Amino acid sequence: MSNSANSEINPFEVALTQLDEVSSMMGLDNGIHQFLAQPKRVLTISIPVKMDDGSIKVFTGFRSQHNDALGPFKGGIRYHPQVTIDEVKALSMWMTWKCAIANIPFGGGKGGIICDPKSMSEGELERMTRRYAYGISDIIGPYKDIPAPDVYTSGKEMAWIMDTFSVIKGNYIQPEVITGKPIQIGGSLGRNEATGRGLAITVREAAKKLNIDMKNAKVVVQGFGNAGQFSAQLVEEQGATIIAASDSKGCMINKNGIDINSLRKHKEKTGSVTNFAGSQSISNKELLETECTILIPAALENQITKDNAGKINAKIVAEAANGPTTPEADKILFNNKILVIPDILANGGGVTVSYYEWLQNLRREYWTEAEVNDRLNTNITQAFLGVYDTHLKHNTHMRKASLVVALNRVVDAIKIRGLWP
Ligand code: NAD
Repeated sequence: MSNSANSEINPFEVALTQLDEVSSMMGLDNGIHQFLAQPKRVLTISIPVKMDDGSIKVFTGFRSQHNDALGPFKGGIRYHPQVTIDEVKALSMWMTWKCAIANIPFGGGKGGIICDPKSMSEGELERMTRRYAYGISDIIGPYKDIPAPDVYTSGKEMAWIMDTFSVIKGNYIQPEVITGKPIQIGGSLGRNEATGRGLAITVREAAKKLNIDMKNAKVVVQGFGNAGQFSAQLVEEQGATIIAASDSKGCMINKNGIDINSLRKHKEKTGSVTNFAGSQSISNKELLETECTILIPAALENQITKDNAGKINAKIVAEAANGPTTPEADKILFNNKILVIPDILANGGGVTVSYYEWLQNLRREYWTEAEVNDRLNTNITQAFLGVYDTHLKHNTHMRKASLVVALNRVVDAIKIRGLWP
C-alpha cells in the first residue's frame, strides 16, 4: 500500500536494491541474479463490474508470480486505491524470500486490485472479486498458485474466490486453492492471529538475545488492522505495555499504557483508535519517533526512511507490515544498533499457518488450535534463530541475513532442479 507521503519510493526498486546488495555480498551468479530480479509471470487484467447504480466500472487487477523453485506460488491479494504493478511485483518477490525463510514449500506470488473497497457495497465487492477470480483462474490452483488475504481483504473475499474457482474448474469444492478462509469452509484455526503470533514469537526471541525483560518493554504500534492488533495483543500477553497506536484516521498515545482489548472494542464501536479514553492525539511523525522498546510498523510501506531513521528511538523494530523500512534507513538503524526484525521474517507467521491450512485442506483433516500454535512456535523460532546466527556470522543487519538464508534455499533449489530444457 503506497502512501502519498512516500509514493516516490518505488517498492520494486527497494526490493531490487535489497537483492543486489545481498547478491554481491554472496557472490551470486549473475544469471541467477537476473532470473530472480524479475517475476516469472505478471498478469494484468481488466475487471468490468456492474455497479449498484446500473453503470459499468472497469477496475485493473494484477497477479504477480515471482518464483516457484521451492513450490507453488503463494501470497495475498490486496484491495487499495494505490496498488501498482510494481508494488505487487515487489510483494511477490518478498513472498519468495518469506516462504524460504520460514522453510515452507512455497514460492512467492501476490495480487491486487486498484479500488477503494471502503466505498463499495457488499454486492459490488462480490462481483468484482468473482470477476477477478475468473480472470486469474487459469494461473492459480492448488498446486500452482494459492492466494490469501492481504490489506482490505479477508475470509469473505477468500470464500468468494474459492467458490468461483471451484465452480469454474469442475464444480466440486476445492478449498486448497486459497487460504485465509472462514473456518466453516476449510479455514485453519489460528490463522486469523497467525501473523501477530509469529511476530510476537520473533520479538520474544529477540528480547532474549538482547536481554530485554518484556515486562519492562514499551511498545508502539503503527496500524491497528489484523497484523497490528494481534501483534499488540500477543506482545502484551508477554508482559509488555502498549503506549501508542494508530490507524488510517489518526494516532494516539498514553504513556501509562493502553489495554488492547479495550482499544479493540473502542475501534469496533467508533471505527478508529483515536479519541480512546485517557489518550492524547499525536502525529504519525511523533508516533514513529516515540521513545519505546519495540516499534511495530503494521500498516504501510516506506515509513522508516533516511529522513526519520536517525530519530527512531526503539531497541527493536519488528516489521508486521511489508516494506516499512527503506534500504538507506536499514543502514542507519544498523549503525544505531537498533535490531530490525525484517518483514520477511517477522510477519512470516501468516503464510506459515496458510501452509498448515493448505495441508489440512489437501488431507481433509483438521488440527486443533493448540497444534497449529505449537507448530508455528517451532517453525518461527527456528527461522528467527537461523537468521539471527547468520546476522552475527556476516556482521550485517537482519534483513540482509534473512535474504542470505532465503537465497541459499531458493538458489540451491534452482540449481538442483536445473533449467529446462
Ligand atoms: P488491515 O487492512 O487489516 O489493516 C491495515 C491497518 O492499517 C488498518 O488499521 C488501517 O486503518 C491502517 N492504516 C492505513 N493507513 C494508515 C496510516 N496512514 N497510518 C496508520 N495506519 C494506517 O491489513 P493487515 O492485514 O493488518 O496488513 C497490514 C500490513 O501487514 C500490510 O503491509 C500487510 O501486507 C502486512 N501483512 C499482513 C498479514 C496478514 O496476515 N494480515 C501477513 C503479512 C503481512
